[in-house]
Amino acid sequence: MNDRLSRIEIDRDQQPPLIDAYGRHISYLRMSVTDRCNLRCFYCKSDDVRFLPKAEILSLEELDRVASAFVRLGVRKLRITGGEPLVRPGIEQLIERLGRHVAVGALNELTLTTNGTQLARHAAALAAAGVRRVNVSLDSLDRWNFERITLRDELPLVLAGIRAARAAGLAVRINTVAMAGINDHEFDELVRWCGDQGCDMAYIEVMPLGNSMEHYVPLDAVRGELSKHWTLIPIAYKTGGPARYWQVMETGRRVAFIAPMSHGFCTTCNRLRLTCTGSLVLCLGHGSNVDLRAALRAGDDADLEAAIRSAVVAKPAGHSFAAGIRPAEVRPMWQLGG
Ligand code: SAM
Repeated sequence: MNDRLSRIEIDRDQQPPLIDAYGRHISYLRMSVTDRCNLRCFYCKSDDVRFLPKAEILSLEELDRVASAFVRLGVRKLRITGGEPLVRPGIEQLIERLGRHVAVGALNELTLTTNGTQLARHAAALAAAGVRRVNVSLDSLDRWNFERITLRDELPLVLAGIRAARAAGLAVRINTVAMAGINDHEFDELVRWCGDQGCDMAYIEVMPLGNSMEHYVPLDAVRGELSKHWTLIPIAYKTGGPARYWQVMETGRRVAFIAPMSHGFCTTCNRLRLTCTGSLVLCLGHGSNVDLRAALRAGDDADLEAAIRSAVVAKPAGHSFAAGIRPAEVRPMWQLGG
């Protein structure tokens, strides 16, 4: 790594933080590197989904440049997502390059959300690049049910990916979308299995971002059911996102609940999303997007930073999911960067 470059990046860190019109400090960016995914989770996308032409997707250099601009503006947690981030060619090089911000202390955390199918071949490189923790989305431990949900028979690959990540020294949190009538009979088993694997886990409420809300279940109900079999103690542990954690006394691991529908957390939202086309999504539940690709391609870094600063001011107060219907202008998770 180039020492002079690191020093310049640290000096430029002295910029004022990104604060929106409601006084929220933006410190977390979720950056999508592709809209492509090798699974077809029924609640997220349809099987005949059409992905974007490659020309519309930001190059690896552009992704590095825009992420680095956010780091200079005070982002301290960077999550790489998609689509499925590990199907993007060159992803290891991008993450290795972004790892320089962790190495010089400009970024507290560089992390990744993945479906786990490609983890086995990337885990060691991720760990070497400075990734310490990954979230693996896994809605079922039953091969038949997994295929029913994802339309792909890939559970063995996911399990191998999780094992490889643990062997490479990565902490793994399993993220499970809680769905009544789909995987609710597996909730207990997931807690037990995560305990055995040494993984934390998080339950997530279905949001009106994909195909349907008919399987929605409020997470208070899930926690109530789990409490019948597990001793759950609320704890102050935080990972810089919206998850609220409980300690599972029997397993020694943590279980988190992310409940955007039943317990909105908009007033403390510290996040922005960047789609793989360079569109800055100010709120998951609003169509309020700002194109950064033009500033990225036409301007210098100062223009890009100015475009980010002026965009942040327009971050909406909160999402508009109350009716359980996806607002027409809001795109599904695989396009937004989940
Ligand atoms: N492919 C990666 C993965 O599987 O984690 C990253 C992208 S995926 C869109 C990110 C997360 O969004 C997954 O955990 C998925 O389950 C979740 N997701 C997608 N649609 C959702 C919805 N309508 N409600 C809640 N979570 C959703």
